[in-house]
Amino acid sequence: MALIVQKYGGSSVADAEKIKNVAQRIAQAKDKGDQVVVVVSAMGDTTDELIKLAYQVSKQPDNRELDVLLSTGEIVSSTLLTMALEAMGYEAISLSGAQAGIRTDAVYSQARIVEVDPERIIRELDKGNIVIVAGFQGVTEEMNITTLGRGGSDTTAVALAASLGAEICQIYTDVEGVYTADPRLVPEAQRLSEIGYEEMMELASYGARVMHPRAVELGELFNIPILVASSFTQSSGTLIYGGASMEVRNKVRGIAHDLNVAKIAVVGVPDRPGIAAAIFESLAKAGISVDTIVQNAGLGKITDLTFTVARSQLSKAIRLVRPIAESMGAKKCVSDSKLGTVSLIGPGMQNTPGYAARMFRVLSEKDINIQLITTSEIRITCIISGDRVKDAVRALHQAFELERGE
Ligand code: ASP
Ligand code: MG
Repeated sequence: MALIVQKYGGSSVADAEKIKNVAQRIAQAKDKGDQVVVVVSAMGDTTDELIKLAYQVSKQPDNRELDVLLSTGEIVSSTLLTMALEAMGYEAISLSGAQAGIRTDAVYSQARIVEVDPERIIRELDKGNIVIVAGFQGVTEEMNITTLGRGGSDTTAVALAASLGAEICQIYTDVEGVYTADPRLVPEAQRLSEIGYEEMMELASYGARVMHPRAVELGELFNIPILVASSFTQSSGTLIYGGASMEVRNKVRGIAHDLNVAKIAVVGVPDRPGIAAAIFESLAKAGISVDTIVQNAGLGKITDLTFTVARSQLSKAIRLVRPIAESMGAKKCVSDSKLGTVSLIGPGMQNTPGYAARMFRVLSEKDINIQLITTSEIRITCIISGDRVKDAVRALHQAFELERGE
């Protein structure tokens, strides 16, 4: 008898029919004789709707209250799913994040899990229950409800799998797994049957929406195999695990893209210590995360500092950066809100020359201008105009022959 953790995303439990469908799938797993813990997201767009409501009653909803409000979305889906299972004759119980022993720090709306005490879950499993846990939430030491950041139910699922010593964490969603590129952009994109944690983390961090990067990171840390598959079909999905990259060294595995990218350039700043610190400290304090940062080697005593933020955070970031830049004597502070990124991801790319050159050649042949470039050991990212991202992804997918599959 194995212990498995399953997670169902918002689109998989969007209405009563879909909840009943998910209940059937859970029942099948239980019938195999496994102990089953299920993590659910809120139904459909519930979280977005709750946020909208909060902003209808207040310009600045209180952080604590907002988290309690958002946590109710997952409570609704977990109770309904439990009722559906009970109606089918299965013993099941729903638990909130707090009841499931998920303890977090006190950073509202972006809380991190500090500890999982699985005692209650184990007790319920021992009684023969299927345990349905409300995802995306936890509780602080002071018993305040927190949420883990958008898409946080994936993190709940992997954290529970780790603390329960589960055999596998199965993430069920509305796509059939991880693809070589977004199939909506590239119809020839192929599903990967397996992928390593690190490649998956890069794909997820650079735009692949299928799984939350934090959850992948946690999976790697605790060595939990993660299966990403569809809740609507029987397709075998994609297995994310440690051994996967061994056999595919030097290959490009996938292309990620992100359209939510904006750039700020502080032009003509005096080249002296303290400027970057002042700018990025103030952004960090405001909770704005900065992605790519480039500073030119200044000619004379003047330099340019360029960085990217999520498009939705651009105006807030500009409001913070502009006065600092001016007080430091910068010539100007300019921005561009319509950028995107395209990233080539594959293990061992760094050790094999030629990938970057080939990527840049492909983009230049399409007359796509590269604004900024960043790399990791297994990733090359180009920041380009947002309206060329689709062309770039398609051209790269073809050039690196990803339609041929594994
Ligand atoms: N319901 C939350 C969200 O929409 C968490 C999740 O779906 O994982 O962000
Ligand atoms: Mg959701």
